[in-house]
Amino acid sequence: MSYEPERPHQGLQSFQKLIDDIYGERDAARGLASTHMWFAEECGELARALRGGDKANLEEEFADVLAWLSTLASLTGVDMEEAASRYETGCPRCEGVPCCCERGPARS
Ligand SMILES: [Zn+2]
Repeated sequence: MSYEPERPHQGLQSFQKLIDDIYGERDAARGLASTHMWFAEECGELARALRGGDKANLEEEFADVLAWLSTLASLTGVDMEEAASRYETGCPRCEGVPCCCERGPARS
C-alpha cells in the first residue's frame, strides 16, 4: 500500500513570495547572518509561547518563525515548497506514514 500524497506543503511558495514582497528588499540589505539572528530570536519567542500555552500567542509566534524561515530560504535561493516536497511521500528515510524508522525520523 503506497502513500497517496496530497501535497500538504502547497501554498508555501505563495507564502514565501508574499513574505519576500513585504520584506525582501530589507532582508537582502540586512544580509544572511543578521537575518539568521532574527530567526533565532523568534525561535526563542516561540519557545516562550509554547511554555505559556496561549493559543493566540502561539499562532503569532508560529507565523513569525515561519516568516523568518521563509526569508532565510529566499536569501539562499531555496524554494520552500520544493524543499518541503522532501516529505511528500512520507518519511524521507523509510517512506513510512507514519515513520517506522527505529532510530527516529530522518529530520532528527
Ligand atoms: Zn522513517
